[in-house]
Amino acid sequence: MAVDRSTPNLGSLYQELILDHFRRPRNRGVLPGANTVVHMHNPVCGDEVKLYLHLEGDQVTGASFEGQGCSISQASVSMMTQLVQGHSVDEARRLAARFTAMLHGDADAAADRALGDLRALAGVHQFPVRVKCALLGWNALEKALESSADIGG
Ligand code: ZN
Repeated sequence: MAVDRSTPNLGSLYQELILDHFRRPRNRGVLPGANTVVHMHNPVCGDEVKLYLHLEGDQVTGASFEGQGCSISQASVSMMTQLVQGHSVDEARRLAARFTAMLHGDADAAADRALGDLRALAGVHQFPVRVKCALLGWNALEKALESSADIGG
């Protein structure tokens, strides 16, 4: 079992949730039939995320990822792939904006139930160098959704 010494102290309950996703990532692997793939890298920490989305019309019908890096980056993208599936592209964009606001210390966003378990990462805003880790998967999502207009549906 890998020991992650790089996880900032966010409180034990949140820490557990983050480590659970880090150790047992959800939706990890290539997504069969994905029509959008975005690869992103955070050179500061060495995190990597390759995000696979299946977009059908204006719906996110599938999401998965491959990646490596710190617990914050991998837990964030793992939770994100769970959250956005079944949402519209517009809603996924809205969630990305809310999550980004939360990571910049917006208390309203941190209280937004729509973000679900991802609120466990709210405390990361106190650790500026880790904000990029938490946002990596979401930046990939925003980029993937930008290109969704080209796919047609
Ligand atoms: Zn990182």
